[in-house]
Amino acid sequence: MAFIPYSRQSVSEEDVAAVVAVLRSDFLTQGPTVPGFEHAFAELHGVEHAVAVSNATAGLHIACLALGVGPGSRVWTSPNSFLASANCALYCGAVVDFVDIDPATRNMSVARLSEKLVAAKRMGVLPDVVIPVDFSGLPCDLREIRGLADEHGFKVLEDASHATGATYLDKPVGSAWSDATVFSFHAVKIVTTGEGGMVTTNDAALAYKLRLLRSHGMTRVVEELEGRAEGAWYYEQQLLGFNHRMTDLQAALGTAQLKRLSEAHERRVALAARYDLILEALPLIRPCRLPDRVSSWHLYAVEIDGDRCPVSRARVFEVMRAAEIGVNVHYIPIHLQPHYRRLGFQVGGWPAAEHYYARAISLPLFPDMTDEQQDRVVDVLRGALGEAGTR
Ligand SMILES: *Cc1c(COP(=O)(O)O)cnc(C)c1O
Repeated sequence: MAFIPYSRQSVSEEDVAAVVAVLRSDFLTQGPTVPGFEHAFAELHGVEHAVAVSNATAGLHIACLALGVGPGSRVWTSPNSFLASANCALYCGAVVDFVDIDPATRNMSVARLSEKLVAAKRMGVLPDVVIPVDFSGLPCDLREIRGLADEHGFKVLEDASHATGATYLDKPVGSAWSDATVFSFHAVKIVTTGEGGMVTTNDAALAYKLRLLRSHGMTRVVEELEGRAEGAWYYEQQLLGFNHRMTDLQAALGTAQLKRLSEAHERRVALAARYDLILEALPLIRPCRLPDRVSSWHLYAVEIDGDRCPVSRARVFEVMRAAEIGVNVHYIPIHLQPHYRRLGFQVGGWPAAEHYYARAISLPLFPDMTDEQQDRVVDVLRGALGEAGTR
């Protein structure tokens, strides 16, 4: 019985050939492949600018900086996310706070956000940037969040690390609503470049700043220079940037992967629909579906319904791992991490995220997963939940 991981990259012979071709070319990095990947990604998402970076964490970092986050800025995000959604603001010296989730979508709750904004306005501490996270690939309530941003004057930096291929109101995530959107191409994500990320935006000035920030703050483009080019060698550092670049090797893999995005998405959609069906009779809360958006189905996360089943999440996890099923848990609420506790965050502060975490378990889902593998996952899960009667 082979191990079934919760997520797994899908690398084709075409992907391998694309990377090998770059290996044999003149440029391993900073050649033509990264701009080609950016162009293809922007085109596919119907967005003006796409800036490739070394990983999504780097993308979130420089997007925060480009949006003006600095010491003393206030940045709000969802506690039900990977650490990077909050860490990016700490890198910039900002003060982080959290907005609790909607138990149905597991994304940032618009109701909680509205309440928090009203209170913050009264105290003169409105956020500068809000980072909603498209958890599991289900787009957030982006139209409502945009409305609140326009009303209260904050920027929206969407963490769409899970959501490549997701759509909201018939448009790809990353095309509209947010000031900037960040995608991850880590090996477990929807499209992979090994490590990698992309920032999309329709704001040309923001894209320019992102390009500077990812590469030492420097430019060689004559039209962009503040001074006069002293010769063809001339370059200028205009601000303090980093080396957050993607390589051409990675971009070749990403470009090849992007060609199979819709095919891979269809398979994820089919597997999710099949899970919905075969899990129906079990004491689980399945992922929600909304008519105005389509998930990328990065994760298929269920909650063990404590009212109908006394078996603990820990026990179900243990039984499934023992049966070689690579279940996982997304996410330990960020504010419960020791680093964040030392910043003053406490248990009980974001109850919906904490409640969700206590019962959540992510089931395997990846494009190359077979129906037989999925059946095995469900059989083992059924057994684990059914232990209730015997324990
Ligand atoms: C994976 C992930 C990141 C970080 O992505 P990297 O490319 O690994 O840096 C950030 N946010 C979320 C929600 C993620 O899942």
